[in-house]
Amino acid sequence: MINGRTKTCGLIGNPVEHTMSPTIHNRLSEMLHTNLVYVPFHVEKNLLQEAVEGAFALNLWGLNVTVPYKSEVLTYLKEVDPLAARIGAVNTLVKTEGGYKGYNTDMPGLFRALESDGIQIPGEHIIVLGAGGAARAVTVLLAEKGAEEIILCNRTIEKAGKIADEVNGYMGRNVVRVLPLSGYEELKGRKYLAIQATSVGLHPNDQDAIILDKDFYNLLHTGYDLIFNPSSTRFMKLTEEAGGRAINGLKMLLYQGIISYELWNGIQVSQESAMEIYKLLKEEMG
Ligand code: NAP
Repeated sequence: MINGRTKTCGLIGNPVEHTMSPTIHNRLSEMLHTNLVYVPFHVEKNLLQEAVEGAFALNLWGLNVTVPYKSEVLTYLKEVDPLAARIGAVNTLVKTEGGYKGYNTDMPGLFRALESDGIQIPGEHIIVLGAGGAARAVTVLLAEKGAEEIILCNRTIEKAGKIADEVNGYMGRNVVRVLPLSGYEELKGRKYLAIQATSVGLHPNDQDAIILDKDFYNLLHTGYDLIFNPSSTRFMKLTEEAGGRAINGLKMLLYQGIISYELWNGIQVSQESAMEIYKLLKEEMG
């Protein structure tokens, strides 16, 4: 029941029409008997500042932020959590006195997702494919969680180089190195965890994969695709064909939402509730 005390949260982005976040938050509210409703808000390109200030004026309790505003929104916040500042992107706003505080729950979300699938980061040798917003955040997370080596491969090598310089600089060790997408020949001799953080293979381009050569997939023990639509990407299929374990990005989506919900409500969501929502998301994906 919506009544005078209902808290409103939502998602700002452009587009927002295909989001699954309302399922996460509204079902959590139902399950946990929280008087909170979550709605998507399509924000036009030149109206982000007005959207954030208007949300604050309307007493919106919290917001998620999606593409293309995760970095731009930093300008309009009262405070930014240190992890989000290091990543340079915010996907969750929490109302505080005088403005919103920005957090990044995408990366803690990915970390919880990896943990729940039994994937260890400390000491691991990891290939990250991509050098966009998601790959940058993934690289920060992996470096901070103790990866032994991160090999960053991207079509535009300069973008990968910039991330490597930045992360190596503040980590004080050369944990990230850069390779072109065709450079994996030199990686023979061990098995890697690969995290696919490019947009190649996203629906409707289901037949595309960032690398098609089978030799690459022979290097992997696990191929983790941040994409969740389609639920089995070509990258995942190629990983499995080469004998590796393949996982999609749906649990990352789940846990980033759950961590946002925890921040807004000052609670800890149980693993049972998280798995119930995960089941709903899988059903929604068909
Ligand atoms: P982005 O900033 O636009 O970066 C896109 C990346 O893909 C860049 O590295 C780009 O390479 C590469 N790329 C795009 N088209 C390419 C092509 N034809 N050939 C080679 N490389 C290509 O995007 P993002 O925000 O980082 O998102 C990346 C992926 O992560 C998306 O698929 C998104 O759905 C997914 N994601 C999932 C979650 C989740 O909750 N599961 C959360 C965030 C993101 P260049 O640098 O050379 O252009």
